[in-house]
Amino acid sequence: MSYYDTVIRNGTLITPEGPVNADLGIVGEKIAAIGQGLQGREVIDATGKLVIPGAIDPHVHLEMPAGPVRSSDDWVTGTIAAACGGTTTVIDFVEPEPAPAGPVETLVETLHATSLRRALAARRAEAEGRAVIDFGLHMTLLDAQPETLAEIPAVVAAGCPSFKTYMTYSMKLTDDALIAAMDAVGRAGGMVMVHAENDAGIAYLRRKLIEAGHVEPRYHPISRPASMEVEAIERALALAEAAECPVYIVHISTGRGAAAVAAARGRGQVAFGETCPQYLLLTDAEFDRPGFEGAKFVCSPPLRKPEDNAALWRLLASADLQTVGTDHCPFFYRGEKDLGQRDGAYPPFTRIPGGMPGIEARLALLYTFGVRAGRLTVERWVDACATAPARIFGLYPRKGALVPGADADVVIFDPDREVVLTHARATSRPGASHIYRLHENCDYTPYEGFGLTGWPALTMLRGRIIARDGKFVGQAGGGRFLERGDG
Ligand SMILES: [Zn+2]
Repeated sequence: MSYYDTVIRNGTLITPEGPVNADLGIVGEKIAAIGQGLQGREVIDATGKLVIPGAIDPHVHLEMPAGPVRSSDDWVTGTIAAACGGTTTVIDFVEPEPAPAGPVETLVETLHATSLRRALAARRAEAEGRAVIDFGLHMTLLDAQPETLAEIPAVVAAGCPSFKTYMTYSMKLTDDALIAAMDAVGRAGGMVMVHAENDAGIAYLRRKLIEAGHVEPRYHPISRPASMEVEAIERALALAEAAECPVYIVHISTGRGAAAVAAARGRGQVAFGETCPQYLLLTDAEFDRPGFEGAKFVCSPPLRKPEDNAALWRLLASADLQTVGTDHCPFFYRGEKDLGQRDGAYPPFTRIPGGMPGIEARLALLYTFGVRAGRLTVERWVDACATAPARIFGLYPRKGALVPGADADVVIFDPDREVVLTHARATSRPGASHIYRLHENCDYTPYEGFGLTGWPALTMLRGRIIARDGKFVGQAGGGRFLERGDG
């Protein structure tokens, strides 16, 4: 009889083939076997628990520069929060400098020719030795100049086959640049990710609102209506179809936008859609909070209507919408979200740093409001949070599923553990035995007071336990950069 380093015994394994009551055997950093009666030097009892692959968050922004501030979770704090919530891999972004416009001297051209790769190396170096879980990087494309596009095959070869583009903000690509980028990425065997909103329409609406004195956070969603997302998603899909490039629409907030991606897939296009917990669980009613509190919920695209929540859940359940990422991009409410406050007057909504925390609770939110609420099967929950991101982003079968040969990234999930989420540091509130203090480095959570049933009891990264009962027990720098294939 062979002995494994670790055996997780008596749990319900959620495998690609469905739930299985079996033991999981681990040797070194790998899952070695799934079977009955496995023997191990270490035995972990998982009676009554779900045993699932470590979750993969395909969309996070750690220590991302945003004007005068940086997103408040760094590679250490952000990945510790992720680990405590059952996430063992994140994919963040490289934000290179834009290429200089117009003709350049030969020397400058030569220097620029390595800029995407230099930016990738720099971002990777920033995370290495600090991230506590494994991480990959998407490359942001800020222009489609020939020297930038010429670098794409080398970036793909460096393990970074997904390219983020924006149709809005100052880093937007116009349609001619976007289709050129898609053409180049498609030929290199990569995929383009798109933040899809109609920039010109939004710019007009913002100006009109500000001129009318409508500057409070509640006007943020009015300046970026659903139609502006839907149009841009349709346009991104059309450009990708023409360029024959796989496309992934990030953070879809509207039912209509998600349906557009599903329709493209129905026609045979290689297209994927992602939504986030905030678009499934919150609505634009949050922007009507008293004072400036609505600023906490300012992100783009904005929170939508209950009908959108319902439509996104339906499309997620049927796998017409593939993944749930967080778009974790936290800023402190005091001093960051309200930056520019003068004499008691708050800045207009256009100057609020966009983004919210969310890296820690994604898996558990989706369990309580998805699986327990009867909206998702347990298999679809694991798929949306782990397997589908792994497949789409070139990590499968190394990550994202409980299969022999995969990295032993494993979460033992206690489906009966009750927690009440808070950002607050103090945990001595009376009657607060279930209070769970999030590890995210932020002074609020959009999920304050949410009661959940189901939380990870244990998180394992490549065979080592890194979090237990909401406490981080791993070490800084335990995470590795993942060179991804083209999926
Ligand atoms: Zn984002």
